[in-house]
Amino acid sequence: MVRIAVVDRDSCDPKKCGQECIKYCPVNRSGKVVWLDEATGKAVISEKLCIGCGICVHKCPFGAITITNLPDELEGECVHRYFPGGFKLYRLPAPRRGQIVGVMGRNALGKTTIARILAGELAPNLCREGGAPQAEVVKSFRGTELQTYFSELYGRRLRAVHKIQYIELIPMYLRGRVGEIAERAKIPRELMDRLGLSKLADRDVSQLSGGELQKLAVAAALAKDADVYIFDEPATHLDVVERIRVAEVIREKTAGKYAVVVEHDLTV
Ligand code: SF4
Ligand code: SF4
Repeated sequence: MVRIAVVDRDSCDPKKCGQECIKYCPVNRSGKVVWLDEATGKAVISEKLCIGCGICVHKCPFGAITITNLPDELEGECVHRYFPGGFKLYRLPAPRRGQIVGVMGRNALGKTTIARILAGELAPNLCREGGAPQAEVVKSFRGTELQTYFSELYGRRLRAVHKIQYIELIPMYLRGRVGEIAERAKIPRELMDRLGLSKLADRDVSQLSGGELQKLAVAAALAKDADVYIFDEPATHLDVVERIRVAEVIREKTAGKYAVVVEHDLTV
């Protein structure tokens, strides 16, 4: 078992703390165990030199560091890492044609990273600085369903659609009334009716609630002609009845396709 100290870059704020992780690390006398990255200004921890004592975890005022116990056998299966000392994503769920694959877990476990990789938006770097060519990514999954999946995705034989997690961003990119947006996105009337969106046709997108934006985003994704449908947290802002309705529509419209649903819990 390997103990690794991992920095959550979003929580780390060296300008507002006393850089306790650097100050109190017992093995940092050389300054090579914990340091501030020049490019990002955030703390970085060397996984080779860190002994996993956990002192920095307790000293960091923002709770930005966690200790992860990692079985040795996973070491060769690292799929992606955003930056040195950051969290590592090990393994990937394999999408299956004709099935809905669920990815569940609490925040900051890499669910959105998984969604972006499976959608082909983020190239997995196999945890190597400088990244990895697509051919090597495909090879790294040899003998598994993911080898075929990535081979087809990178060969443009699969078209993927990704319903993003942060639907609050939609009004920043889309302007106009719901009816106009639905027309541009070619959302079928039947889908608009089933998701209760038809009655909002005259409303400006900036006036929609979180739940209404969520349903519009799901409908727009389902209206696209694709082979792979990826939904990142499609139940957020929806009540129980709407969640069931959205789940039914997703199941029905993605029949025979690849579908992946990322969620916090078993709400969908
Ligand atoms: S990890 Fe914590 S203690 Fe270290 S620089 Fe970031 S916020 Fe400060
Ligand atoms: S876990 Fe211990 S050795 Fe590793 S960086 Fe934190 S204080 Fe240093």
